[in-house]
Amino acid sequence: MESLVEVHERSFVRNQSPKTDAASLKVLVVEDDDFQRRNLIRALNRCGVDAITEAEDGVRALDLLRSGEQQPDLILCDLDMPNMDGMEFVRHLAEQNCQVALAITSGCDALFLSSVEALCEAHSMKVLGAINKPVTMAHLAQLLETVLELPPAAGMMESESPRYSYTLEEIRGAVSRSEIVPFFQPKLDIASGRIFCAEALARWQHPSHGLVAPGAFIPQLEAAGELDALTLSLVDQSARACHSWHELGLKLGVSVNLSLTSLGDVGLADRFDRIVRAAGVDPAYITLEVTETAAMTELAPALENLARLRMRGFGLSIDDFGTGFSSMQQLGRIAFTELKIDRCFVMAMLRKREARAIVSSSIEIGKQLGMVTVGEGVETAEELAALQEVGCHVAQGYFIARPLSEEAFIKYCREQQ
Ligand code: C2E
Ligand code: CA
Ligand code: CA
Repeated sequence: MESLVEVHERSFVRNQSPKTDAASLKVLVVEDDDFQRRNLIRALNRCGVDAITEAEDGVRALDLLRSGEQQPDLILCDLDMPNMDGMEFVRHLAEQNCQVALAITSGCDALFLSSVEALCEAHSMKVLGAINKPVTMAHLAQLLETVLELPPAAGMMESESPRYSYTLEEIRGAVSRSEIVPFFQPKLDIASGRIFCAEALARWQHPSHGLVAPGAFIPQLEAAGELDALTLSLVDQSARACHSWHELGLKLGVSVNLSLTSLGDVGLADRFDRIVRAAGVDPAYITLEVTETAAMTELAPALENLARLRMRGFGLSIDDFGTGFSSMQQLGRIAFTELKIDRCFVMAMLRKREARAIVSSSIEIGKQLGMVTVGEGVETAEELAALQEVGCHVAQGYFIARPLSEEAFIKYCREQQ
């Protein structure tokens, strides 16, 4: 069977301070078969790793981890083991909130490995890679390189994990003082290579904590039923930014995120319309990216609002398409103009044929319904090329640009022209 290394998901962090070569890494090998274990250790040695701990099953591995001596940087774990198999081992790791990078070694096929990855994700653990046996040095070297590239724990991305948790009171204050502003991430028209739009992403410019990502305040506002004030503020700020771009000769559109829970008030569409026109912008330049969450409000007012927004000329995008709540059923109910494929599929499409199948069939559906298709979460040139190959219209992601302050966004667009 062809060996396979899947290296992905940058959400892990290393336990220790930055390391630059394999000799500095500590690896825990969990493998019941003596021959395979010895083989793997020898290959690791040849890659320059000396600090290797071994365990013949999950029980022993957990004991070693609990003993609390130095934490490994990487756990290489077999799936099929007596006493405690790899699946159960992963569950225990998750229960202990273990953050160590994990890679799976197995003789199973890629489809099975990706179902194990899904299992790990369900436990909020992400596997760093899966290696088919027999493990080769080239694959190990690639895996070790990825471990070395992981950001150290302290350097966690601003947008990934909120460092503080805020009270509703503090968040309300931030909204009323307009401390929450849109950052703009370019959307690239793949065929022409031009930026034609930007997605507004909420950022709290906290007076002492710096930039705070939306995960630290949007869920709280949503749960309290108080998201509307922020949504209206962001529509207003984004529409005004859009107007200033037009004044500068940059004929760009802007997309604003809209939670379906905000659509319970049937007056919302009219308020958006007034805000956008007051900013001097034609609603045709504004797209609302609609996300559905579990806590959906009543359907009827939401549909009335969306139909009215569409009638007034706003664009409507179905966000996170393919994930739990953003489903096929919505396509028939709402006149969407854009279909946005969730980044988890785009980020996996080069590694997993299921993800690629989901991306290309979503694009097919979008095209048949006359919608613009967008792939988000594009981090590499290869991902961009893959999207182009399956006929996607628009790409968005760090490879093109990160979300930028309004000033930086204008500078970026000027440089692109
Ligand atoms: P989303 O609408 O799916 O937005 C895309 C998220 O992916 C953004 O995270 C963006 O920074 C991130 N992203 C973009 N390109 C890449 C990439 O190449 N790689 C990776 N790993 N990530 C990328 P952000 O800004 O943290 O926003 C998270 C979510 O918060 C958004 O997901 C959206 O659902 C919500 N959100 C943000 N602003 C607003 C808002 O004003 N209103 C509402 N209702 N929700 C918002
Ligand atoms: Ca969005
Ligand atoms: Ca998304």
